[in-house]
Amino acid sequence: MGRTAIVVGAGIGGLSTARALERTGWDVAVYDQAPAFGPVGAGIGIAPNAVKALEWLGLATHLRAQGVRQEGMQIRLASGRRVAHLPATDIEARFDDPFIALHRAELHQILLDSLENVAQYTGHRVTGATIDTGRPSVSFETTTGPLTVSADLVVAADGVHSQLRGSVFPAYPGPTYAGYTVWRGIVPAHQAAHLGIDPILTETWGRAARFGIAVINDGQVYWFACENMPEGATPRHSLNDVAARFRDWHAPIPQLLAATPPESLLRHDVYYLKASLPAFVRDRVVLVGDAAHAVTPDIGQGACLAIEDAVVLADALHRTGIDEALATYDVARRPRTQQLARTSGTLGRILQTGNPAATLLRDTIARALPTPLLARFASGAFAWTPPEPIAGEPTHPHG
Ligand SMILES: Cc1cc2nc3c(=O)[nH]c(=O)nc-3n(C[C@H](O)[C@H](O)[C@H](O)COP(=O)(O)OP(=O)(O)OC[C@H]3O[C@@H](n4cnc5c(N)ncnc54)[C@H](O)[C@@H]3O)c2cc1C
Repeated sequence: MGRTAIVVGAGIGGLSTARALERTGWDVAVYDQAPAFGPVGAGIGIAPNAVKALEWLGLATHLRAQGVRQEGMQIRLASGRRVAHLPATDIEARFDDPFIALHRAELHQILLDSLENVAQYTGHRVTGATIDTGRPSVSFETTTGPLTVSADLVVAADGVHSQLRGSVFPAYPGPTYAGYTVWRGIVPAHQAAHLGIDPILTETWGRAARFGIAVINDGQVYWFACENMPEGATPRHSLNDVAARFRDWHAPIPQLLAATPPESLLRHDVYYLKASLPAFVRDRVVLVGDAAHAVTPDIGQGACLAIEDAVVLADALHRTGIDEALATYDVARRPRTQQLARTSGTLGRILQTGNPAATLLRDTIARALPTPLLARFASGAFAWTPPEPIAGEPTHPHG
């Protein structure tokens, strides 16, 4: 039997890791607490760095076929005035790959479909891990009672509120509230068609609030709306209330809110790992994605970095023994992801400022930023080189 891995969490990070490990010869089982692997989430932006990671996984053809290449990125003010613009030609000239947006469920399905012999278990809620036996084991609560399983490697991909992280790093303080909540919605194609929205990733800045728009697969339009909120507040839930908050903002924001089916509305308070973890590895438990380095959505990189993690981890494990590979992964991933988490947290505080003078300063600086400088900001995240493809692996096995 080959080397065995348990992946806990079947989000983008967990499934990417399962895919990466399976194609490098591991025997993999994925567990998630959800009752089913149904379509969840809203839109997601896949930046050039993650396009490269998906290429390594042999899935970029699917991504390109199903996602929408963004013709650029722009920042506008609530009045509609455009203050910054990075055209696709610039993005692609600098980073070789496009910025692609699609429904998260679509990306999730691409990853699920890519798994060939990975065992998949739903309804398994992880409760802890044991690491002092030489072979890690994980305990679950299941519908039929408690269960403990062990393997050569345990991958903690159970998200920002990771139970496994708490189990192997009990002194870690846990996630920090970013100070704002996010609503998200999807406008169906037949409604969006009337609005004539171009596929340019757009973020509009107001005072203590922001609104984002992206055209995604099948002509749908994804939007998100951020608003400052005290931690634990029970905010308005109705779409009408969100629409009222943004009613004076530029078109097509009010129109998108009016065209959103209420059942598609999602709301999440934003948490991230402000304090850096001392390591992403403990014994043979390795953390990936939000479990390791949850970033605020301000730089749109959480899922992108999770896919990178999967690739770097599988590559290291393919080249050396488990313990050496885990050390390599830790050294390779912590500086980049923790730096980006800090940058994103700071950016979020600036972008969500409610102070009128700070808002004016923010908008003035944005207006003065020349395109090359904007691109330089983007390069902190977008410029990333994946490991060499593994010899004998086709680049597009499903392409
Ligand atoms: C508003 C918003 C917009 C975003 N936009 C972008 C974007 O455009 N681009 C981008 O790259 N990123 C974006 N992100 C970030 C991105 O969504 C996350 O970083 C990414 O989904 C993390 O993936 P993950 O697999 O690590 O964790 P998750 O997606 O959280 O998956 C964790 C999985 O673990 C399971 N789980 C949790 N606890 C347990 C348990 N105890 N037992 C068993 N299973 C468990 C969960 O059910 C889940 O399936 C955004 C985030 C937000 C909030």
